[in-house]
Amino acid sequence: MTRELRSSVAVPIPASVPVIVVGAGPTGLTLALVLAGHGVACVVVDDDGATSTEGSRSICVQGHSLAILDRVGAGAVRAEGVQWNLGRTYHRGREIGQSRIAGGDPDAGPRFVNIGQSRVEAILAEAVRAHPLCATAWAHRVDRVDGIRSDAAGVDVAATGPDGTVRRWRAQYVVGADGGRSTVRGALGIAFEPPPGQPDVDDPYLVVDVRAELPFPAERRFFFDPPWNPGRQVLLHPQPDGVWRIDWQVPPGFDLGAETASGGLDERIRAVVGDATAYEVLWSSVYTVRQRLAERFRVGRVFLAGDAAHVMSVFGARGMNSGIQDADNLGWKLAYTLKGDAAEGLLDSYEAERREAAVANLEVTGATMRFLAPPTGGARLRRRLVLAGAPYAGFLRRKVDSGRLSEPAVYRDSSTVQPGCGALAPDLPVRRLGGTAVGGPGPAQPDKPLRSLRGGPFVVVAVGPTVEEAGELGAAVDLALDARPGRTERRLPPYVIVAGAAADASGDTETAGAALGNLLVVRPDGHLAWKVNGEPAPDEVADALAEALLRASGG
Ligand SMILES: Cc1cc2nc3c(=O)[nH]c(=O)nc-3n(C[C@H](O)[C@H](O)[C@H](O)COP(=O)(O)OP(=O)(O)OC[C@H]3O[C@@H](n4cnc5c(N)ncnc54)[C@H](O)[C@@H]3O)c2cc1C
Repeated sequence: MTRELRSSVAVPIPASVPVIVVGAGPTGLTLALVLAGHGVACVVVDDDGATSTEGSRSICVQGHSLAILDRVGAGAVRAEGVQWNLGRTYHRGREIGQSRIAGGDPDAGPRFVNIGQSRVEAILAEAVRAHPLCATAWAHRVDRVDGIRSDAAGVDVAATGPDGTVRRWRAQYVVGADGGRSTVRGALGIAFEPPPGQPDVDDPYLVVDVRAELPFPAERRFFFDPPWNPGRQVLLHPQPDGVWRIDWQVPPGFDLGAETASGGLDERIRAVVGDATAYEVLWSSVYTVRQRLAERFRVGRVFLAGDAAHVMSVFGARGMNSGIQDADNLGWKLAYTLKGDAAEGLLDSYEAERREAAVANLEVTGATMRFLAPPTGGARLRRRLVLAGAPYAGFLRRKVDSGRLSEPAVYRDSSTVQPGCGALAPDLPVRRLGGTAVGGPGPAQPDKPLRSLRGGPFVVVAVGPTVEEAGELGAAVDLALDARPGRTERRLPPYVIVAGAAADASGDTETAGAALGNLLVVRPDGHLAWKVNGEPAPDEVADALAEALLRASGG
C-alpha cells in the first residue's frame, strides 16, 4: 500500500492520558473526535505510518454516519461524496427491478453518499491532527503479549515504534479499534466467532476501482449471473471524480496476479465499461466476505469497537458505518463517566446497545449472504426461482436480496432507555429557552433542528403544536427541575431545555405531538432516552424527568 509516512509521534504525548484509542481507521479516528468534542483528551496509536491512500474499501457512507462526521469536523465527507438514489438489479443481463432510496428524516440529508474509505480516513485524520485534544502515535504497534495491562485504576499500554523503541502510556480507558485482527481483542482473550446460528461462510470477491466515463448517471447496478460472470454476481458503484467500483464474486482460490497477466482482468472490466471506453485501473484487490462477532465488547476498562468487535459482509454497507456509530455511542459515555457526570453503569450500556446493533446487522447481512452464496441445494433452487420470477411478480422481486442498506440502530434492550424509546429522536425544529438551567434569559433564539444540538449535553424537549406553546411547558419544567431538592443530592447530568414543534407529514401538529410525547429526553448521541406523555403536575414532571436523566446517564 502507498502510504505517506508522517512523523511517528505527532505531538508530545503525556505519560498519562484519559483515553487511548488503538487503531486509526474510521472507527478510532471518529472516536477521538467525539471524545475531543466532549472536552476529553485522547491518544490514537496506529501501527501504520499514516492512513491508507489506496483503494476504496468501504464506499457507502450512511446518512446517520454523515451526520456524525459533520458534527466531529469531517463534513468534507458529505461535501465530496457522490449522492445516488437509484439501484438497478439485473438477472442474466435483463433488468428485473429498481429501488429508489428516500432521504432519512432524523438526519435530514441523503440516506447515503459514496466516497472511498481512504478519503474518509484522510479527512478524519486531518481533523484529528488539527484538534488540540487529540494526539497521534503513528507507526506504533501495540504488542499482543504485554501491550495491554489493566488494573482497577487504569490500563498500561506499550507500543513499539519504527526504531524499535517501546513507548509506554497509562490511560483510564482503552478502546481497541484495531480492526478485524484486533490485537486488543486477542490480549483480552475474547472469542471472535461467526454470529450464533450462522454458518462460517467465506465468499471471495475481486474489487477494482476504475476511472472511466460511463454512459449513465451515478447509480448502483447489481448483476446476478451476468453472461460475463456466469453463476456469480457483479456489483457496480459510483465514486467521486468519475471513478467506479466493481466487485465480482469469484471462485475460491482466485488468483488476481494470474488474472491480470492473462488479460482476464481486462476482459472482466471491458464487459462492464464497454469495448470502446477508455479506463484506468486505480486499485485492485481480493477480499473474502465473512461474518464475526466478539463475545464481549468490554472487559473492565478496555472496550472493543468497529471491526475489532464485529466483522460483517459488506453488502448493505454496515461495516464502516457501524464502526462510526460504535464510536459515537462510546465517545459520549466515556466522556460523561470521566467527567463524573454519569454513573459507571452507563459504560455497560455500550456493550448492551452496540452488541445488539451488531447482532441485528449481522442477521441482515447473513440473510444477504445466504442469497448471494446459497449454502444448500434447496437455497440454490429457491434463489433460482426467485430470480426467474422477479420480472413478473412483485412479491418475488421483494425477495431478491442484493444487500439491505443500513439504518441507524434502535436500542430496544438498553437499561438506560425507556421501553419503546432508543431510536434517533425526530428532528423537530427547536428553540433554546432562557432560564436558570440554560444560563439565564437572553434574546429570542431562532429555531434550529434538534439534531444540531447533538454532541453536547442531554436535551430535554418540551413538545407542543408550536414552538411558542411548547415554550410554556418548557419554562414550567425548567423551574420545577431547578427547584427540585434531589438535584443537589443526586447530581443530574448536564442538560438543556428546548421547546420544539411536532408536525407529522400531514402537518397535523397535535396528533404528532401526542404520538411523540410531551417531554422528551434526548441523549448526546441524538437517541431518544425517555418520553413523558400527558400533562402531569409540574412536580411529577420534574420527578419523572430527573429520574429519566439519571437512568439515561447510567444512574
Ligand atoms: C473491500 C472492502 C469493501 C468494503 N465496503 C464497505 C462498505 O461499502 N461500507 C461499509 O460500511 N464497510 C465496508 N467495508 C468494511 C470496512 O472497510 C471496515 O468495516 C472498516 O475499515 C472498519 O473500520 P475500523 O476503523 O473498525 O477498522 P480498520 O479500518 O481495520 O482500522 C484498524 C486500524 O488499526 C490499526 N492496527 C491494527 N492492529 C494494530 C496494533 N496492534 N497496534 C496499533 N494499530 C493497529 C490498523 O493499521 C488500522 O489502521 C469494506 C471492507 C472491504 C475490505
